[in-house]
Amino acid sequence: MSTPNTPYKIYLEEHEIPKTWYNMRADMKNKPAPMRHPGTLQPMTVEDLEPVFCRELCEQELNETDREIEIPKEIYDFYKMYRPSPLVHATFLQKALDTPAKIYYKFEGNNTSGSHKLNSAIAQAYYAKQQGLKGVTTETGAGQWGTALSMACAFFGLDCKVYMVKVSYEQKPFRREVMRTYGADVTPSPSMTTEIGKHILETHPGTTGSLGCAISEAVEVATKSEGYRYVLGSVLSQVLLHQSIIGQETKIACDKYGIRPDVIIGCAGGGSNLGGLIAPFMGEKLRGEADYDIVAVEPASCPSFTRGRYVYDFCDTGMVTPIAKMYTLGHDFIPSANHAGGLRFHGMSPILSQLYADGFMRAVAVEQTSVFQAAQIFARTEGILPAPESSHAIRTAIDEALKCKETGEEKTIIFGLTGTGYFDLVAYEQFNNGTMTDHIPTDEDLERGFASIPDFGL
Ligand SMILES: *Cc1c(COP(=O)(O)O)cnc(C)c1O
Repeated sequence: MSTPNTPYKIYLEEHEIPKTWYNMRADMKNKPAPMRHPGTLQPMTVEDLEPVFCRELCEQELNETDREIEIPKEIYDFYKMYRPSPLVHATFLQKALDTPAKIYYKFEGNNTSGSHKLNSAIAQAYYAKQQGLKGVTTETGAGQWGTALSMACAFFGLDCKVYMVKVSYEQKPFRREVMRTYGADVTPSPSMTTEIGKHILETHPGTTGSLGCAISEAVEVATKSEGYRYVLGSVLSQVLLHQSIIGQETKIACDKYGIRPDVIIGCAGGGSNLGGLIAPFMGEKLRGEADYDIVAVEPASCPSFTRGRYVYDFCDTGMVTPIAKMYTLGHDFIPSANHAGGLRFHGMSPILSQLYADGFMRAVAVEQTSVFQAAQIFARTEGILPAPESSHAIRTAIDEALKCKETGEEKTIIFGLTGTGYFDLVAYEQFNNGTMTDHIPTDEDLERGFASIPDFGL
């Protein structure tokens, strides 16, 4: 499909930032399976979730009916500091690939946290403040979520306790220092500060940690400390809701310039940027108004969609969270130590899991050296040093554009450029030195993770 010439960078006007978030669940015929209490197996209610999450966020988590949810003014005003984000026509990349495809990317790296995560962090901090809480706890992997949350907490004057996956704490000291600059208290996970941390260290001595462990620790601290709640930067339906700002801006920009995407691509860790980017497009698809080829890209070393099971599992290693039906590699799954590129979570957003199971989107898995090759091509053509996570989407966008070169199709491809890679230079160093390796887990490796999934009889 051909599109008229568009500017290199499409910036919306400030007043064009959408005033509401879009709740995809309202348009889903098959709703995502409910989160359940691991003991009673009953669907979680707002009352069940309230000891862990802020009240308003519990409501949003369970809201499957309201299509539009108003963005509070304080959050909207904060959004205006770094939004609208540009939709960029990647003309230099297209030229380098010599492809008839048109490639656009929605760039979410224009804020200090360097990623889209600020879109939800500011919302979650706002609702915690509204509720009169003292602070929040969370986990962070590579550090983008912790950084985004520490910025948001600093803005609203909230305490922020971050459990950071140990391997990242040690390998990514700079992100840790950004968090501390914004006032966050950062602890490497697993740690001796929690019961679950002590247990994990006893049973897995020398472990470099995982998001699952860090979640368990952060939840434990939130539920044991007066005036604290836990917040999560991905996977949850409320996070996808907040991230819908990405897709809505993209849709407005497309409509304004007559761009109609054929393919929409996003990297998938827990699914929040992808869920946000595709939201209004998926809405059209769900309502039967339009069709798009929607692609999730995951690392071959952590292949939840492409090789995982669609079953109920815990969201954390310590089994303290509610259980969710999602594509999972098992809550004990830890990606191989040579995996450098983020997107390490064992599970996937229940919303995206249901959409994937119902055939509304597809998924591909890519290996990390090819991801960094794509990152290098992108940096050299479009100028931006991409985050390794985002580079998964770049890889697949390039592959799709190269397919168009073979077939002569003039497809329009939009991908999510979720962030910048300035704090990921250890991984870039490995790539540049030629010491980066790929790891694809064997079926036996995956069986070990699957063995940790309890049989809930659901
Ligand atoms: C966290 C992160 C991701 C992956 O998280 P999702 O919830 O799957 O979006 C992707 N890109 C960047 C830059 C991130 O920080």
